[in-house]
Amino acid sequence: MSERPTYYLTTAIFYPSPRPALHSMFEAIGADMIARYQRLVGRETRFLTGLDEHSANVERDAREAGIDPHELIDPWAITWRETFERFGISFDRFIRTTDPDHAVASVEMVRRAQAAGDVYEGVYSGWYCTGCNEFKTDQQLVDRRCPDHPTLEPQWLEESNYFFRLSAYQERLERLYEENPSFCEPSHFRNEVLGWLKEGLRDFSISRSGVTWGIPFPGDDRHRIYVWFDALTNYLTGAGFPDDAEALARWWPADLHVIGKNITRFHCLYWPAMLMSADIPLPKQVFAHGFMYDVSGQRMSKTTGNTEDPDEMADRFGVDGVRYAVLREVPFDRDANITLDGFVRRYNADLANDLGNLVNRTVSMSARYLDGSLPAQTDADQPADVELRATAERSVTAYHAAMAEHHLDEALASMMDLVRAANGYAESQAPWALAKAGETDRLGTVLVTMAEACRIIGHLLAPVAPTTSLRLHEQLGVPAPYDERGAGGPGLDALLGWGGGPTGWTTGDAVPLFPRVEVEVAT
Ligand SMILES: [Zn+2]
Repeated sequence: MSERPTYYLTTAIFYPSPRPALHSMFEAIGADMIARYQRLVGRETRFLTGLDEHSANVERDAREAGIDPHELIDPWAITWRETFERFGISFDRFIRTTDPDHAVASVEMVRRAQAAGDVYEGVYSGWYCTGCNEFKTDQQLVDRRCPDHPTLEPQWLEESNYFFRLSAYQERLERLYEENPSFCEPSHFRNEVLGWLKEGLRDFSISRSGVTWGIPFPGDDRHRIYVWFDALTNYLTGAGFPDDAEALARWWPADLHVIGKNITRFHCLYWPAMLMSADIPLPKQVFAHGFMYDVSGQRMSKTTGNTEDPDEMADRFGVDGVRYAVLREVPFDRDANITLDGFVRRYNADLANDLGNLVNRTVSMSARYLDGSLPAQTDADQPADVELRATAERSVTAYHAAMAEHHLDEALASMMDLVRAANGYAESQAPWALAKAGETDRLGTVLVTMAEACRIIGHLLAPVAPTTSLRLHEQLGVPAPYDERGAGGPGLDALLGWGGGPTGWTTGDAVPLFPRVEVEVAT
């Protein structure tokens, strides 16, 4: 077994649809940036994502189409997986809750709750949103509709169910948040959770009868395991629960569950209680991200029909361009609007102009003035050199600090600070003028200083724009010492230190990294 420290992170599993929308990609891209960062830092990383397939909608849609649910969703799962792969989502497993090992895990979780005396039979009735797959309280409905699914009519359901005794975990959950508030981040979403905890916890239904789609409920196969004991358990399945003791010891408890802010109740109250009941250690942190809204202020989603098509966006901006623009435009911990206009401006300003131009001018001038052969870096002597180095060190520190809190947009802003400083350095030091004046020594120093900034920027870029980062290092002449998933390198500390480049290296051919995008935008 490897000696490296480990990091296990997950996204929420997504409700199946024919293809993913950009807002689902947003969560996956954000989690992927974290996964790649952790690999670059030097941790053995396991990244789980996938689909939550046992929803009532799937069964209903399949029945209406006269087909087996698998015939409906198997092609969808292929498309989702392929889209994730196209977008560079470096998952280790794409889990489907219809996977056979997941049924074993899910049944085991129910059995443990039963053994702990936390499961009882009762009658449940209430308004049920088929979009959310959950019962809604009157307070949650707006104009008798689910606010997240205003086009769907909630259904009144009454049925005999098995319940999980969540109320029995009131005190233990209160203690959890007293002792370890960062179990749920960021704090503005944690405060909602603490509010629900204060109101008092209600037991929740864990089975449905009258359905055949789903995992049979242990001890009563007239029932199927209902949503949470099925869906949430996927995080354990992905770590080898219950049978692979070695994998489980290695990966559990998970370091991070990345989820949408709409499912904090289930991840921050239900899930820890379920794990306590099963006598399994809790994950270290649940991080809820905000929503990406389109201009109209509605959440971009399938149900409201405002979906942005990820493939179309990738055709326009390139996969890395989309990855960067969504994570830079939408703070990971908050809601934000995005517009095509904003996307174009962000892409052109940051990537095509600032970053692309910096690398391009550095590599071109190295070729033009020095035949691509950079001198060894020397100790900075001029104030401008010292200042750029200091900016690089500040940017790296700020980048790490932002990543520690999953403030992905701030990490990218720190990287751009260095990009802009390096462009400013190029303007003030004017290597073209030094070339004209025949000041060869200073010219070499200026160009190797710019190249050193580019080398560091390339590593900061790697978690968000992995393919472009590899191309950047290639044309710079210092190939990255890690694979296309960010694994196998010496660790970021070794890579991000100023002066960490080889002694006197040879640059390659300048090829634009981010071609400018011209899009007609209606104003
Ligand atoms: Zn809903």
